[in-house]
Amino acid sequence: MAPQLDSFFKQVDAMSESFIDRLSKAVAIPSVSAMDEHRPDVFKMGEFMASELRNLGAEVTLHPLGKQPHKEHLELPPVVTARYGSDPSKRTVLVYGHYDVQPALMEDGWATKPFKLTVDESSGRMYGRGSTDDKGPVLGWLNAIEAHKKAGVEFPVNLLMCFEGMEEYGSEGLDEFIMREAKGFFKDADAVCISDNYWLGTEKPCLTYGLRGCNYYSLEVTGPGADLHSGVFGGTAHEPMTDLVRIMSSLVDPDGKILIDGIDEMVAPITDQEKALYKDIAFTMDNLYESLGSKTALFDDKARTLMGRWRFPSLSLHGIEGAFSAPGAKTVIPAKVIGKFSIRTVPDMESEAVTAAVQKHVDKVFAGLKSKNKCTLKLQHDGKWWVASPNHWNFTAAAKAVEHVWGVKPDLTREGGSIPVTLTFEEATGKNVLLLPMGSSTDGAHSINEKLDRRNYIEGIKLLGAYLHYVAEEPMREG
Ligand SMILES: [Zn+2]
Repeated sequence: MAPQLDSFFKQVDAMSESFIDRLSKAVAIPSVSAMDEHRPDVFKMGEFMASELRNLGAEVTLHPLGKQPHKEHLELPPVVTARYGSDPSKRTVLVYGHYDVQPALMEDGWATKPFKLTVDESSGRMYGRGSTDDKGPVLGWLNAIEAHKKAGVEFPVNLLMCFEGMEEYGSEGLDEFIMREAKGFFKDADAVCISDNYWLGTEKPCLTYGLRGCNYYSLEVTGPGADLHSGVFGGTAHEPMTDLVRIMSSLVDPDGKILIDGIDEMVAPITDQEKALYKDIAFTMDNLYESLGSKTALFDDKARTLMGRWRFPSLSLHGIEGAFSAPGAKTVIPAKVIGKFSIRTVPDMESEAVTAAVQKHVDKVFAGLKSKNKCTLKLQHDGKWWVASPNHWNFTAAAKAVEHVWGVKPDLTREGGSIPVTLTFEEATGKNVLLLPMGSSTDGAHSINEKLDRRNYIEGIKLLGAYLHYVAEEPMREG
């Protein structure tokens, strides 16, 4: 039987102005984690979260994380954890979000003040840094609790909340915290839900069950003891830049095909079940052209494009450190250049095997150049891909909630980028992790004029609450 959600929904509608007010208070705190001078504001935002949660009756703890590595003069902002309810007969859901934001300056081109929530009544767009990433979704959980209380509706689950303040700066200190608390604060969790990504488009909600990983490499070529002048030394020495450009151009072809032997064989084959998923997904080539700002797509069809983003690896060339890049015509021969490239990884690619294949390829190509320079490959960092089972009860509960609130079945999507904390939670808790987005593809997280649509916020609060009700009722199926 579908849960009775009418009085909760009515309460959310009745309280929508106060929920928007809560968001504007949060947006007004410029909790920019990447800027030293805003660190006190990040702390202030953590305190704001703690006091709002305490007012709702949650048990709140602020966990200090110590000094910031490489910036010892700065204290890391605390992880705010909160527990709401501890009824052993109920399921326990762990939710994660972040209360810090990306930098934002008027000079960047904002049309409104970034740290003032500005609601455009005609379009329903609510502009402000953090509105969609991630203050709106984070407050969504608090608003759902408050609406239950006010409506006198019993809260359907025990809720564990974990909100961090360093997400936009690499989540410093968080992995260790999560691993430490796996058998502590997180031990009761039956499932995990993260609301910190976006719909694929603007009209259809989605549930996200996969992310690509990333192996990031640097490739250094050195030769001469110092930078040289091409008028004097051109034609007399092996040039590092010439070698590097040759190697980099051998990694991938203009159609995006990775040319490193062994990579293709690591990629999990496409099943018929997976193939069938793509055709119904609300995405068009025009959506791609719009976000590319051009028609320079690799493929003309939707399914192949989505596969290119979600389920195949890709290799991108990012830049060359040490190369002359300023305007003008400097006749330098750089003595040392470092090429940067990365591979977005997918099932079943293993980081070590990928690196071994890259190394073998680089060695082979460099040997073919017969250069007297020196060439060194380094893995700068790697993050693993993640894929969850969309048949797990955590996902089927969320799908029912989407249908209840939005009247459509959600698209099951993956993403081309990574949200590393997803995998950390999965490893620490051993439970299914669901990505349940609130905002849509046009929200502009991280860019100027970030916004959250009023409709996505208010219906999103209903969705988060409804999801918890369906979780409470869904038969246990591990998928
Ligand atoms: Zn975010």
